[in-house]
Amino acid sequence: MNEYEIVIGLEVHAELSTKTKIFCSCPTSFGAEPNTHTCPICMAMPGTLPVLNEKVVEYAVKAGLATNCEISRNSKNDRKNYFYPDLPKSYQISQFDKPLCEHGYVEIETEQGKKKIRILRIHIEEDAGKLNHDEFGGGSLVDLNRAGVPLIEIVSEPDLRGVQEVDKYLKKLKSILEYIEVSDCKMQEGSLRADVNVSVRKKGETAFGTRTEMKNMNSFRSITRAIEYEANRQIDVLEDGGEIEQETLRWDEVSGKTFSMRDKEDAQDYRYFPDPDLVAIKLSDEYIEQIQNNLPELPESRKRRYLEEYHLTEKDANIISSSKYLADLFEEASKISNNPKAVNNWIISDISRILNETEMDPVEIPFDSKQLGELVILIDKGTISSSIAKKVLVELFENPRSPEEIIKEKGWIQISDEGAIKEVVLKVLSENPQSIVDYKAGKDRALGFLVGQAMKQTKGQANPQMLNKMFIEEMQKS
Ligand code: ADP
Ligand code: ZN
Ligand code: MG
Repeated sequence: MNEYEIVIGLEVHAELSTKTKIFCSCPTSFGAEPNTHTCPICMAMPGTLPVLNEKVVEYAVKAGLATNCEISRNSKNDRKNYFYPDLPKSYQISQFDKPLCEHGYVEIETEQGKKKIRILRIHIEEDAGKLNHDEFGGGSLVDLNRAGVPLIEIVSEPDLRGVQEVDKYLKKLKSILEYIEVSDCKMQEGSLRADVNVSVRKKGETAFGTRTEMKNMNSFRSITRAIEYEANRQIDVLEDGGEIEQETLRWDEVSGKTFSMRDKEDAQDYRYFPDPDLVAIKLSDEYIEQIQNNLPELPESRKRRYLEEYHLTEKDANIISSSKYLADLFEEASKISNNPKAVNNWIISDISRILNETEMDPVEIPFDSKQLGELVILIDKGTISSSIAKKVLVELFENPRSPEEIIKEKGWIQISDEGAIKEVVLKVLSENPQSIVDYKAGKDRALGFLVGQAMKQTKGQANPQMLNKMFIEEMQKS
């Protein structure tokens, strides 16, 4: 197994977040009643004509520029012919030999340093509809809401070696697409999905092995599992003296195995030809320049800024800048609270932990930067303790509203009243005489214990600094 190297190339499909579809003016929004976002064009009625949505070209060019591609001045749409029940035209309008963008790269950080993953091409195409298999009726129902939703397909060279690099590359790509705001990249909704091509070869060999392809994968975890399984399967075949067949596989999440779907088709099987209903796509230098000049700040630059301006650690800057949503949250909440250090801590510790535990993507964070900023201010002002703040954060995830409102409603305001604090301190001291003896004998841990007891009795609401101070005062007195 260790003598082998795994080679991977990805075809990543990203749904573009244009308001309307690629060749008609139907809305692209997700989750509508089946077949309500349709018209004669995207339902493929005879005699209808497609008109290319200019925004789709703009978004694809943006993606190309952000991934260091050359932008083609002279591009076109082609028909890719194949039959599928959710593809009523029986062809998909895509791009064949003249894609909009070519020869780019995305940089990832590996253990051996930075590595460029080359991008072969980025082309635009239309999405197909969706089949809903009806468990009760036994049939399949077609929903064409997704038919004609614009996609870009980003095809990498087979430059990836192993699952770690794949994970890094996909995350980087997702992060770039989010930053330039061309796709929401919601993997659970299928906005970002990848065809994963895998082959293996003995280390040191220069020729590639035969690849198999797993289509439409939309979670990081299944991609990792599928590559590991498939690479091992191929190695077993080769070790047994067999040959790998070039084929399309289906990954089954439940059994954790790949199954053969069909022989791999070649380009000629699709009988590509230029779509006669659409004009050529000609782009001027000024057009491309204008998009280039308006590209927003990308993750690398944000990271640099966080190191220099905010003095974050390399690790924290990496985590925060990896997602546009986290980065925006960080900058805005820092501005509001004037305490970037605290906001940084909240994001990389408690917020990240909750995201992990709930498998939530940063884009789905339900509260906003104003609410996080306010939370930090309430701690800084001493209105709430940090342990109460943690409970407020949980509330913000569950039912976001102003933290001030939450603590009022829950009665979580910190007790900073001297009389009330003294009362608890005296009670805890009378219950724990041994701790007083220990403290006087130099055991500082005793103080921590006493403060902990007082916190428990006040359900975390007592001001910890005041408790500390008063415990020391009272013990010195006795
Ligand atoms: P197709 O549409 O036939 O799958 P593409 O050229 O669009 O062809 O995509 C091929 C993908 O497969 C690319 O991402 C490429 O990097 C990858 N690939 C090609 N050869 C290999 C190989 N031997 N091992 C792994 N991946 C490969
Ligand atoms: Zn339509
Ligand atoms: Mg493919």
